[in-house]
Amino acid sequence: MRCPFCSHMESKVTDSRNAIEMNAIKRRRECLKCQKRFTTFEHVDLTIQIKKRDGTYEDFLQEKLIKGLSAACRYTKVSHDQVRTLVDKITQDLVERQLQQIDSKSLGEIVMRHLKNIDMIAYIRFACVYKRFKDIKELIETIQKISPQGEDTSILIKEEKEQNYAAEERGN
Ligand SMILES: [Zn+2]
Repeated sequence: MRCPFCSHMESKVTDSRNAIEMNAIKRRRECLKCQKRFTTFEHVDLTIQIKKRDGTYEDFLQEKLIKGLSAACRYTKVSHDQVRTLVDKITQDLVERQLQQIDSKSLGEIVMRHLKNIDMIAYIRFACVYKRFKDIKELIETIQKISPQGEDTSILIKEEKEQNYAAEERGN
């Protein structure tokens, strides 16, 4: 990466937070010769495909993941900024691992691993969509596994039960 000030070829990356936007990685760099700082946008070829449960493929789209995560984080203490940062982090991880494709189950698990450390309610909501619990017992077991002892999870379970009934009524 050529320095725009002195044309020196070597620089170091000083910051790549909130990295991927519009398929470009934004990096703060510092020239190793003149020490001036500049920002670069490096194009990323995002050709990762998601293999879905039914065997079909779809392109990995950040916007879609943001939408799914935003829904899981509604009415929680997770801000939209946090959601974006998380999606950037996950995307960068996929890009760095040079993955051509990932199955939806693995992607869901990566997301859940992150969410678990951010917000429990968002985690459970997301898990409900991704794991498609077979029955209420399986859901309760999952909640009990991650819930700190003594914490009341009955409200969450009740909410989920109602959602399940609603889904059954719709014939899902
Ligand atoms: Zn320079």
